[in-house]
Amino acid sequence: MPETQTTPSSERFIESLFTKPDEGFDHSLRPKSLAEFVGQEKISEQVDVLIQAAQLRGDPLGHCLFSGPPGLGKTTIAGILANSLSTRLVVTSGPAIERPADLAIELSKLKKGEILFIDEIHRLNKIVEEYLYSAMEDFVLDIPKSTRIPLAHFTLVGATTRPGLLSAPFRSRFQFLGRLDFYGVSALSTILLRSSRLLGIEIDQKSIEEIARRSRGTPRIANRLLRWVRDFVQIRAKGIMSQGAVQEALEMLLIDAAGLDEMDFRILSSIVDQFDGGPVGLQTLSMAVGEEPDTVEEVHEPFLISCGFIKKTPRGREATQLGLDHVRNSRVKAGK
Ligand code: ADP
Repeated sequence: MPETQTTPSSERFIESLFTKPDEGFDHSLRPKSLAEFVGQEKISEQVDVLIQAAQLRGDPLGHCLFSGPPGLGKTTIAGILANSLSTRLVVTSGPAIERPADLAIELSKLKKGEILFIDEIHRLNKIVEEYLYSAMEDFVLDIPKSTRIPLAHFTLVGATTRPGLLSAPFRSRFQFLGRLDFYGVSALSTILLRSSRLLGIEIDQKSIEEIARRSRGTPRIANRLLRWVRDFVQIRAKGIMSQGAVQEALEMLLIDAAGLDEMDFRILSSIVDQFDGGPVGLQTLSMAVGEEPDTVEEVHEPFLISCGFIKKTPRGREATQLGLDHVRNSRVKAGK
């Protein structure tokens, strides 16, 4: 049966470009070691200590939780941990583990030191989450009407875009909590340089910086824009890469000079125009822009806040002066 599409296809394209992982492509560019992992200096150093300590003692790594918006490197770090410790990484996600039995199957397959990576761990259901407590602490699973299942001393690595949704008892069972932040232009440029070498794309420094500035502080987006720019230049610019061609390619995706995509801008301008600069609540705002509240909160707001364009107050979301100026200047530029 054909899939029913409710959103216009251009929006779908942009949404998938920014938020949905593209496994094959992400995989080919994913750093395998800490030396290749650019930026996030604080977390990198901490992870380095974790790895070295586990190697020195020959002990399995303690359970780790990484949080931050999508595409910043949480899955990449899980892979680096496994590679550095020469152990196996088993990847699953919160919604995929529906019943305690699913959890039992995953956990009982793990050998000592192996890593179970649970993406979107905040979406685990509560019953499964509670079974994880004894698995994480005592390495046993107590499933009713079943025997007590002893488990090998495994490591749980969780990733979440919403750490606030994890219960306190769950959070406290992780030995290490790391939060990833948006990347600066210089770190993104380094990532883009590495990716263009790996993909065999010839690109000048100015063009790299142009892409970096418009990547919403996110390596996954930077890499996808690089691929888009390569295609655009081949088809529309006779294969000649230049800063101008890059700008044109990105404008075609409706990404503005501050890196805001169509939905980021729609959210900001809606606060400014429809709600007089705010404050406005999440539900009302989401309805006004036609986006899921979860996506507004997990994907768009963190970036708008990091740009200093909006702030969250107890009464709702408000546009800052910088945000107001950005909307005005964009309109002047577009001649609207
Ligand atoms: P998350 O799990 O946080 O959604 P990923 O780990 O899947 O993000 O990262 C998305 C892609 O971005 C990776 O495949 C990798 O190519 C790239 N990436 C992420 N972080 C870095 C980094 N620090 N250095 C280089 N590339 C990175």
